[in-house]
Amino acid sequence: MRSTFMCGGARGGVAPGREAVLYERIAGGDRVRCTACARYCELGPGQAGLCGVRGNEGGRLDLYVYGRVVAGCVDPVEKKPVVHYRPGTRVYSIATTGCNWLCRYCQNHDVSQRRRVEGAEMSPADVARAAAEAGADGIAYTYNEPSIFIEFARDCGLEARKRGLYNAFVSNGYDTPQSVDMMGQFLDCLTVDFKGSAEPGFTRRYVGVPDPEPIFETLRGVRDRTRAHVEITDLIVPGVGDSEEYARRLCAFVRDELGPDTPIHFLRFHPDYKMSGFPPTPVRTLERHHAIAAEEGLRYAYVGNVPGHPLEHTYCPGCGAVAIRRFGFGIEWWGLDGANRCAACGHPVPVVGAPPPGYRAGGRLRLLP
Ligand code: SF4
Repeated sequence: MRSTFMCGGARGGVAPGREAVLYERIAGGDRVRCTACARYCELGPGQAGLCGVRGNEGGRLDLYVYGRVVAGCVDPVEKKPVVHYRPGTRVYSIATTGCNWLCRYCQNHDVSQRRRVEGAEMSPADVARAAAEAGADGIAYTYNEPSIFIEFARDCGLEARKRGLYNAFVSNGYDTPQSVDMMGQFLDCLTVDFKGSAEPGFTRRYVGVPDPEPIFETLRGVRDRTRAHVEITDLIVPGVGDSEEYARRLCAFVRDELGPDTPIHFLRFHPDYKMSGFPPTPVRTLERHHAIAAEEGLRYAYVGNVPGHPLEHTYCPGCGAVAIRRFGFGIEWWGLDGANRCAACGHPVPVVGAPPPGYRAGGRLRLLP
């Protein structure tokens, strides 16, 4: 999702950086191997990785953007999208420059594809304080891939927890066992964004990723070694990233490895960046993918980026009634009882939390008596 507030981008100075944690020294020289993402860049002195924010400085790996925040704004958590964790809460969303993916349609390319170290200087305590003062309930690490700056995110997250805030990653999932273990130190919620249902031809040509398998390994690791709530998104790109075969494979993986209650969102593609000439995804294509998810046994599938579509709502698997009615990123009606069971039939609906007291989405939310 495009950010609405940018800070500090004009400074342009080089951050002092900080030694990274996730890397290994390669025996017999001064080369290093970064272990923050599945690219595992091997770098000689003076070289930076593909993401542009981690580099070899005299035989050690530095994270150049530690303490540099290039974008930040307060969003509803539903914008991430996350709909089964702390619904109706607000997250202070931050990013740095750089990314480990090269998506040709990236809506945040002005941040993610910069290879300059820019942004406002903010310590982890500054970030947590800014989030609290903005009235946020959590911090989201988003807009670019947060794993590339995970040491900074981890330190922000630990400061956030001292203030009672939660931490959410919006990630492409192209991670490593080491980065997953670090996630386990501070993450409460993780959204993994698939692109084109991880069809390898699409990821090679339009994302610059040769093999999507590490994403699946990340999800297994998060399941086994963290306590984070997980949601899945899948960006469906018309004509080139809309394979029904791979969507079905992805749904089967989610069902078998993460469980049929895992939310999955099929997101509409909007033309941008180097793919401005492509059309938006037809709504019927998204509806077909939703049907595939249902056929594969996923109970909570959604259509995203189509405000007003009935598949934005949560439906009770027990009786079929609308359990949570949404419009865009807002909740219009909450049909669960105090234990998050369907008010109509009592079937449990696996949502963590409920809209906070006083929540209003444009004044439309109606709570059950
Ligand atoms: S985080 Fe950056 S430097 Fe590290 S492996 Fe990934 S692309 Fe390379």
